[in-house]
Amino acid sequence: MGAWLLWKLRPPALIYVLAVQALALALVVPIVVTSRPPNPRDLVMFMMLAITAGTVIVGSSVSITIHRQVRRNPWTIHITYLAAGVLTLPPNMLVLLLLGPALHGALDVRPELHRWLFTTAATTLAVFAARCVTGWAVPVWSPVHFVLGGAVLLVVRALVVAIGLRLRNPGATREEVLGEPIDVLLGVVAASLGGLLAVALVAEPASALLVGPSLALLDMSSQLPQWRRSAERDGKTGLANAAHWERLSRLELTRARGRSHPTAVLLLDLDHFKRVNDEIGHIAGDAVLAAVALMLRSSVRREDVVGRFGGEEFVVLLPGANSEIACTVANRIRTSTSSLSVPARDLRGSYREVNDLTVSIGVATTARFGYDLGDLLVAADAALLAAKASGRNAVTMA
Ligand code: GH3
Ligand code: MG
Ligand code: MG
Repeated sequence: MGAWLLWKLRPPALIYVLAVQALALALVVPIVVTSRPPNPRDLVMFMMLAITAGTVIVGSSVSITIHRQVRRNPWTIHITYLAAGVLTLPPNMLVLLLLGPALHGALDVRPELHRWLFTTAATTLAVFAARCVTGWAVPVWSPVHFVLGGAVLLVVRALVVAIGLRLRNPGATREEVLGEPIDVLLGVVAASLGGLLAVALVAEPASALLVGPSLALLDMSSQLPQWRRSAERDGKTGLANAAHWERLSRLELTRARGRSHPTAVLLLDLDHFKRVNDEIGHIAGDAVLAAVALMLRSSVRREDVVGRFGGEEFVVLLPGANSEIACTVANRIRTSTSSLSVPARDLRGSYREVNDLTVSIGVATTARFGYDLGDLLVAADAALLAAKASGRNAVTMA
């Protein structure tokens, strides 16, 4: 399992993680000790939930292994049967149901044991918070309690995990901490499917099996953010890839043409980048590309479209920018590039800083070249070549 990485966490994160786990344990132990023994009907419902979810999890794991895919934790499946359990099972059986995510985490290859313990504890707290609002001993079956239970399950789990992620890495983005908007929809679908599963279980326990195919489809949909990211983003820098950048830029240009707004395109190429690869190494080269990408994103506004065009070439579309603004932005990027200091490992594996980077930038504006993206890129490319010819570390207007 490797090192117990828990002890490498920052102190606030460590305290938080231990507190969440202690709270979960303090909650679970008295429940197991004090609650009533399950009756045969509870056992049948539990078995049906376990068979339905277990079959889907094992089936999808087998398919993933066969197709050699990498996937996220099947959290939507766990939410679905836990939501159903909250509405149907006694608290001690709920504890047993929580073995589902715990077992899955233990069987999956998990590099960080403490992460698995933490998410299991967070899920435990969320499940019993949901149980509190739906009714502890016997859940109240009303639409309001259904909605409230599902909402509490999702929100508490997301919040407990988000606080942990933020404490662990204060620089994490909102997306990294809270997930993407589609994750919210996936969670809501999972919780509502859990509600339907509960209704099916109570009406006829065996009918829970009918939810299996929907659960499998939901699990596949939960891979959507990952698929979309790999289709749209460049893996090394996280920026839009060339195809996605072009799609976004065409959209912006059509909008700008409709409103007669000026727009500019910057085409950037790092100077003598081959030297970084040859003298320090390709891993260092990749670190520089990632650092330049981060600098570019922080040098422009949210609505500007930044992409990796290929190799060490980047593109930026600046909606609303006339030639003066575009030139100012390009020069800001040029100056920021030369003050970059990128920590990287060299060919011998030692750490060092990569400095003295420069960039050449070609700028084309709609005022001169119109709103066709192809025309703007050709003009920006010619300007970039002129900047290179003028001695590099320069901005040239087309
Ligand atoms: P110039 O100032 O004329 O642009 O010189 P240059 O060395 O930057 O240009 P050249 O086109 O000769 O070299 C670009 C280099 O970028 C060559 C290639 O090895 C490197 N490169 C392209 N993609 C990647 C990548 O993903 N990672 C790394 N490390 N290097 C890359
Ligand atoms: Mg190049
Ligand atoms: Mg270059």
